[in-house]
Amino acid sequence: MNFLPNLISSAKPEKQEIAPSVFHRPISSVEGPASPENCSRRGFLQTAAGGTVAGLLTAVGMEFAAPDSIQAQSTLSPDAALQELMNGNQRFTSNRLKAFDEDLGMLKQNTAEKQEPFAAVLSCADSRVPVELVFDQSIGHIFVTRVAGNVVTSEIIASLEYGAAVLGTKVILVMGHGNCGAVKATIQAKEVPGQISALYPHIQPAVDQAGSNLEAATKANAKIQAALLREASTVVAGLVKEGKLKVVAGYYDVLSGSVTLLE
Ligand SMILES: [Zn+2]
Repeated sequence: MNFLPNLISSAKPEKQEIAPSVFHRPISSVEGPASPENCSRRGFLQTAAGGTVAGLLTAVGMEFAAPDSIQAQSTLSPDAALQELMNGNQRFTSNRLKAFDEDLGMLKQNTAEKQEPFAAVLSCADSRVPVELVFDQSIGHIFVTRVAGNVVTSEIIASLEYGAAVLGTKVILVMGHGNCGAVKATIQAKEVPGQISALYPHIQPAVDQAGSNLEAATKANAKIQAALLREASTVVAGLVKEGKLKVVAGYYDVLSGSVTLLE
């Protein structure tokens, strides 16, 4: 987790010879390194990353635009981060994906030493919910945890706390989905082999609340898990209170591909 020294050593602000307009999104600190006294650690990291990308572009003499959200979380507010996710889903549902147009080689190089995802998603393990695709996002943009039934366990909390407190994700979306087998099995209280039924107690409160309608129970589950995350994690609760993080619940329609926010 000690990634800061690597970032500092790779910073080459003197190579920032490229105009901010080349990027889809302006880089606030592209003019040069901010002074330490008025520069947050995050601000400095942006400068460092901007320098690296600009240097790279200049060195190879390339004209194309750098990948969008190259400093993923950058200056996004929680609301803007959520909007970014929803915009990506809009591109997905209208077949206007652009994530694959980004230069994956550059993204890999830029994110090898660090990651600054702007959002985190807790989704089901279901194969019909390919999270990056659903939000039209590429390498380094979203921090994804997946478990059947998108339930909040201590390991999930630990992962999402790391995403928020260390990596700086601005929004956490807990996303249920249509025709979820985990919720369906909980409703039916089926006999299942092995430890599959270990999921049931996590999902049962949603079934108790919403009844046996699958969609209603799935939506209730997403909302309950989001609320649980806000309450069970002091880290998440603290960041939410400070206005630095937002936790929302959503529902993914596996047929239409659209994500609806539930709160
Ligand atoms: Zn599912």
